[in-house]
Amino acid sequence: MARQPMGITRWLRPPGRTLAVFLCLMLVLAGALSWLGWQWLRQDRALEGQRFRDRLELAVDQMAVAMQRDLTELEGYLGFVSGPGAKAPPDGIWIMQGTKSAVDAFPIGGLLYFSTLPDAAEPSAAVFAAGEALEHQRNDPAKAAAVFRELARSPEAGVRAGAWLRLGRNLRKIGRPEEALRVYDELARLGATPVLGLPAELLAREARGSVFEAMGRGRELAAEAALLRASLWSGRWRLLRPAWEFYRGEAQRWLGAVPSTEQEQDRHALSIAADRIYEQWRTEPESKGRRILKINERPVLAVWTGTSDRLTVVLAGPDHLGSKWTAALQGRQVQGALIDADGLVILGSFNKSGPRAVRTAAETRLPGTLHATSPDPGAVAADVSGRRRLLYGGFAVLALTLLAGSFSIIRSIKRERAVAGLQSEFVSAVSHEFRTPLTSLRQLSEMLAKDRIPDDQDRRKSYDILSQETERLQKLVESLLDFGRIEAGTLRYHFEPLDPGAWLGGVVAEFQEKAAARGYRIELHLAGGLPRIHADRESLGLALRNLLDNAVKYSPECPTVWVEAARERDRLAIRVRDQGMGIPASEQKAVFKRFVRGSGSRAAHIQGTGIGLALARHIVEAHDGEIHLQSEPGKGSTFTILLPLEKKA
Ligand code: ADP
Repeated sequence: MARQPMGITRWLRPPGRTLAVFLCLMLVLAGALSWLGWQWLRQDRALEGQRFRDRLELAVDQMAVAMQRDLTELEGYLGFVSGPGAKAPPDGIWIMQGTKSAVDAFPIGGLLYFSTLPDAAEPSAAVFAAGEALEHQRNDPAKAAAVFRELARSPEAGVRAGAWLRLGRNLRKIGRPEEALRVYDELARLGATPVLGLPAELLAREARGSVFEAMGRGRELAAEAALLRASLWSGRWRLLRPAWEFYRGEAQRWLGAVPSTEQEQDRHALSIAADRIYEQWRTEPESKGRRILKINERPVLAVWTGTSDRLTVVLAGPDHLGSKWTAALQGRQVQGALIDADGLVILGSFNKSGPRAVRTAAETRLPGTLHATSPDPGAVAADVSGRRRLLYGGFAVLALTLLAGSFSIIRSIKRERAVAGLQSEFVSAVSHEFRTPLTSLRQLSEMLAKDRIPDDQDRRKSYDILSQETERLQKLVESLLDFGRIEAGTLRYHFEPLDPGAWLGGVVAEFQEKAAARGYRIELHLAGGLPRIHADRESLGLALRNLLDNAVKYSPECPTVWVEAARERDRLAIRVRDQGMGIPASEQKAVFKRFVRGSGSRAAHIQGTGIGLALARHIVEAHDGEIHLQSEPGKGSTFTILLPLEKKA
C-alpha cells in the first residue's frame, strides 16, 4: 500500500509529467470541442425546426388563400339564372335551384334525384275506373285487358301510358307474358310521360324485368336490368330519392353486385349532399353558408344562399376539390387537411405527429380548420441527424487521434524507461567488468612492489596475470569505444577485397591462442574455393571475436567451438557454433539489442555488458549482410553471418 504514492511520484517525474499534462490538455480540448459541437447541434436543430415551421405557416396561408379564392368563385354562381343564354358552370360544378315544391339542377342530369317534385299532370283516375273495376272487383283480367287495350288508342299520351301499364298487368294475369312484354315495350317508348308519378319508361323497364324474372329468362333479364341501371345513373328521370333507391335496388338484385364507378360514386355523393342542404333549408330558410360534407368518404363542397321561398346551392364534387385545393400544396413537401368541428378530416390528409401550422375556421372563413403538416415528420430530424453523424464522426476521429497519440507517447516513454533501466544495468555491469581485473592488478602490483612474492616462478606467473588483466581491460575499453563510435555514428569502415579463408584462419588462430589457455579449442572448417568478399577486416574481425568470445563464455561445459565458412548461393556464410547453454526462443531477438543480456547469462553469473551482439549486428549490417541465430537452451547456439560476395568489375 505504501508503495503506491511512491509509484505515482515516480511516474510523475518527466517524461511522465509531460504525458499527464498532454493528456489533461487533450481531455480539456476534447471536452470543449464536444460541448461546442453539442451546442451547435442544438441550435442547428432549433433553427431547422423554425425554418420548417415557417414553411408550414406559409403553406397553410397559401392553402387558405387558394381555397378562399375558389369559394368566392363558386359563390359567383349563386346568382345563376337559368335560361337559354345562361352560362353553364364549368365541369365538376353543379347548381341546384329549388323552391318548396320544385327543384332543378344545372347542368341537367347532374343530380341523380331530387328532394321534391311538383305534382305531374296525369289523366284523372276516372278514365281507368271501368277497367280497374273489371280487374279488381270482378276478377276478370281478360275483360279488363280488352278495356285497357281500347284506352291505349287514346291520342293523349298520359292516358295511353296509364292504359299500357294496366294492360300489361292484366295480360300477365291471364298468362300471356309475351304479349305483356310487347305492351311494356310500347310503354317504354313514352319515355318520361308520368304514370302514377313515375316516368313511363322506368316503369316499363322494371315491369319487363319482372316478366323475364318470372319466366326465368336470365339473359334478357340481365340486359333489361343493365338498361334500367344505366337510365337511373344517367340522371335523366325526375325522381325522388326513395324511388331512385328502390329501382337501383331492383337493378342491383337482378344484376348482382356491379361496383359503381368513381364518377358514379361522386355523383351519388353530390346528390345526397344536395338533398341534405335542401332539407336544412326547409327548416332554416333564411340562410347562407359554406360547407364541406363528407359523404361515403367523399368530400362535397356546398355553398348556398336561401331566402324564404328560394334556395340556390352550388356544389363541387371531390374531383374539383382534389384538383383545386390540393394544387396549392404542389411541390411544397407539405400535407394539408381541412378538419371539421368534430375533428373529422374532410379533405386531404395530415400527420398527427410532428410540427404543424393551423388556421381556424374563424380566421379563414373556410368550412373547417386548416392544418399543414409534414408528410414525413422525421425529415427535419433526419436532416439534423445527418449533421450529427458527421459531428460524431469528427469526435470519433478526434478520440482516435487522442488515443493513438497517447498510446505512442506512453510507448516511447516506456521504451525510454526500459533503455534507461538497461543503461543503468550496463553501467553496473561495466563497472563490475572493470573492477575484477583492477582488483587483481592492484593486489598483484602491491604485492610485487612490497616484494611479497619471493619465489621467481610465482613472480613470473604474477607478471603474466598482470599482462592478461591489462589486456582484458584494454579490450574492454576498446569495445566500449567501438560501441560509442557506432552509437555516435562515427565509426569509419575501410572496405577492401578480402579472402575469407586466410582472414578467418588469422582471426581464429589468434583467438585460439588465448582460448587454449582456458582449455578451449576452436575448430575451423573451410569449404573449398571460398569466394572473396568486400569487407573491413578490422571491424569484421571484431564482430567475429565477439561471437567467439560468447561461444566460449557461454559454454562452460563443452570446450569446443566450431567455426565454419561456406558459400551459400550468392553469399558467404560464416557460422560460429557452440554446444553451450543456448538461448531461449523468447530472447533470441532481444539479445541483439544494446544492453540486453540473456536470462541464462545472469543466472549463471557470467559477466558481460550486453553490447557484444549489438556491435556484431551493427558491423554485419554495415557490410550489407545479415546475422541469424539458431539456438536451443541446453544444446547450444549457432550464429550465422551472411555476407554478400565481392562484385566483379
Ligand atoms: P554479453 O556481454 O552479455 O555477452 P552480448 O551482447 O554479447 O552481451 O550477448 C547478449 C546475450 O546473449 C548474453 O548476455 C547471453 O545471454 C546471450 N548469448 C550470446 N551469445 C551466446 C552464446 N553463444 N550462448 C548462449 N548465450 C549467448
